[in-house]
Amino acid sequence: MTILKYTPIREIPKIRETLRATFKAGVTRPLEWRKHQLYQLARLAQNEADAICDALNKDLSKPKLEVLMAEVGAVVERATKSAEQLDAWAAPEHPDVPDWHKGWKPTVHKAPRGTALIISPWNYPFILNSQPLMGAIAAGCCAVLKPSEVSPHLSQLVTDLLPKYLDPSAYRVVNGAVSETTKLLELQWDHIFYTGNSRVARIIAAAAAKHLTPLTLELGGKSPVLVDSAYDMRLAAKRILWGKCNNAGQICVAPDYILVPRSKQDEFVEGLKEAYKTFFPDGAIGASHYGSIVNESHFNRLSSLLDRTKGERITDVFEGRKDTARKRIEPTVVKNVQDDDPLLEEELFGPILPIVPVDSLDEALAFINARPHPLVLYAFTEDPNVKQRLIDETQSGGLVFNDTFQQLAVNELPFAGVGQSGYGYQVMKYTFDTYTQLRSSIDIPKEAEPFLQLRYPPHGPEAVKA
Ligand code: NAD
Repeated sequence: MTILKYTPIREIPKIRETLRATFKAGVTRPLEWRKHQLYQLARLAQNEADAICDALNKDLSKPKLEVLMAEVGAVVERATKSAEQLDAWAAPEHPDVPDWHKGWKPTVHKAPRGTALIISPWNYPFILNSQPLMGAIAAGCCAVLKPSEVSPHLSQLVTDLLPKYLDPSAYRVVNGAVSETTKLLELQWDHIFYTGNSRVARIIAAAAAKHLTPLTLELGGKSPVLVDSAYDMRLAAKRILWGKCNNAGQICVAPDYILVPRSKQDEFVEGLKEAYKTFFPDGAIGASHYGSIVNESHFNRLSSLLDRTKGERITDVFEGRKDTARKRIEPTVVKNVQDDDPLLEEELFGPILPIVPVDSLDEALAFINARPHPLVLYAFTEDPNVKQRLIDETQSGGLVFNDTFQQLAVNELPFAGVGQSGYGYQVMKYTFDTYTQLRSSIDIPKEAEPFLQLRYPPHGPEAVKA
């Protein structure tokens, strides 16, 4: 049975034309219209919460509480707050200028960029479709949403629900895989917002470059965790394991590998075991509050990584069991992982936790800095000097002290990568800004003419004297 109905390729240019006509007609400009669409998006999330949880259960065995907290609740809250704050975000700005410019009324208008293309991944598909969409709505743009074919139940649900809540002349869904996305990318857009892996990001960036289209890339990578020797190893272990177990480690900001002082590695592992027994007293493999790997290809990728690791698997508590039928892999801890281990090559994006022992903070910083800039750098430390060194001596999209994953709960912080982990910003006002052109204007009154005389040719001796 086909779960997801792909959009016929010949329809795609027509969909874009419809949206461009809507934008051109000014439908999306009034702030009251935008607010209504934002409230409608919040209503969609709230009214359809059960259907969303059900779809994500089918796609990823995602526990209901995880969906309600990290996706549905966040969309309701952020769409509502975006509507409430829209007047302030969209208000023209009047910069402070020298006195002789004041009469020119220098103004920065917040102009919508036009019609956007949003391409989203499968791992948190409800929020990762809705969040870029709410920014486009807030900014007064039209948008085509291209959800992931890898989470087909959720993508079909969004396709069915969107026209019931949002204006279909302004917001449409295109479904499909590479062929359909390739067709979308041939067309000219006013902004492209892509969330996904860095291999496809290169394809998207090349397509955007052809039309000089502005682009946001929200990518992933290997987010390290550094644990300072003075920190409570048990607390660090518990907070790290929680961040890793959400969605079975399939999170862009998942702790990817842990740098632990060599002398504290065993204590840290004991902390992980303790936390694991509390989270999953009967093991994770059959637990209803533990997710599955999204598909067979990712399941095989993770299995093969585990087969190739040169580090030591912790097997007394973390049995690392697999359930091929349900595509489940239990959290698997590997200690004494070294630089050349396969686990340290690509983003893991699954429930494998490699521990890399280090002998000093300098060694840990060198290890991080020898690799591409991560999406997040996590550090467990209460030492202000260590914190300052991390701020000054490393680069990453975000920097989180003493917890994992929780940064996403703060609506007021921008979320973004740097370098290989992406560029451009999102969340609330930052997403609004992404789709907004800062359009500068001045308006010089006739009465300014005497003050402008000097600029006109011919530039006689008077002008030169001045
Ligand atoms: P995916 O396979 O669903 O791909 C993402 C999108 O790209 C989909 O809509 C897909 O149809 C499209 N796509 C795939 N191949 C394509 C091609 N050849 N040409 C054009 N489009 C194509 O999801 P994924 O990339 O596996 O997602 C996981 C990645 O996303 C991880 O690297 C993760 O870290 C990253 N991610 C980043 C964020 C963030 O906000 N920074 C959030 C979630 C996930």
